[in-house]
Amino acid sequence: MRLALFDQDRIGLVDGDHLVDVTELLAGPGPYGPAGPLQRHIERGTVPDPHDLRGLPRTPLAEAELEAPLPRPGKIVGAPVNYLDHKAEMAYPTSIAELGVFLKATSSVIGPGRDVLLPYSDLRTDQEGELAVVIGRTASRVPVADALSHVFGYTCLLDITVRSTEDRSTRKSFDTFTPLGPWITTADEVPDPDALDLRCTVAGEQRQHTSTADLIFGVAELVAYTSSVMTLHPGDVIATGTPAGVGPIRHGDRITVDIERIGRLEVGVDGSRATPYAERPGRRARTGG
Ligand code: MN
Repeated sequence: MRLALFDQDRIGLVDGDHLVDVTELLAGPGPYGPAGPLQRHIERGTVPDPHDLRGLPRTPLAEAELEAPLPRPGKIVGAPVNYLDHKAEMAYPTSIAELGVFLKATSSVIGPGRDVLLPYSDLRTDQEGELAVVIGRTASRVPVADALSHVFGYTCLLDITVRSTEDRSTRKSFDTFTPLGPWITTADEVPDPDALDLRCTVAGEQRQHTSTADLIFGVAELVAYTSSVMTLHPGDVIATGTPAGVGPIRHGDRITVDIERIGRLEVGVDGSRATPYAERPGRRARTGG
């Protein structure tokens, strides 16, 4: 199944060029709160009977306003330096094996078609196209061999990043810095998450192209490793890392991430509210003035 969130808290099952409204069927009655009905569905673990789909309302996909499938995940875990070619392009001395994982603020999530807001007018902000894993079952210290059974599904993610000296959790947590979507493809449709073609374009130019086969920590290892640090709960999101080809994004750019079997996420870039880095709050404390 491909499950989208659309038109303010409706769950749409993607059926060709239509969405079948399966909100009550999958999530039960609302209200669903800020985490949304897909979060409720993932927690409930219900499996719909195809017969129940008959007679449900249908909306043309082209007319639906898609939202991030999980507007406020419980947590967003990031994988730093999880492709060797990205390690080389950034001249990083270490990879995920030495760095472990990091966290992004869940308030940074936006949905398809929205704009990434550039915070600084004079610092580079980059795109990082990534495969995202959505957890389906509570995972604590799970072995690699059992890790994929804890995955609900997969989606596309942009791990937008300011290139500066701050900690990763700061540089990657600005509002709008985690575009997510366009929907979640359930794990049964992705038999091998370590063999997916991934492409990312900026302003019509292809910047990133890889196979997830090149991940240093593959999906099962990443889930197992992360669960050895922190308990993963249904609906938590893990960004698996980005391949070579990161680069600056600019006002007016369109960014796309296409992942085989999953879909295409597209967002815009808005730099109209960017301000000089030196004008950020706290400057006086740093200069001692
Ligand atoms: Mn990343």
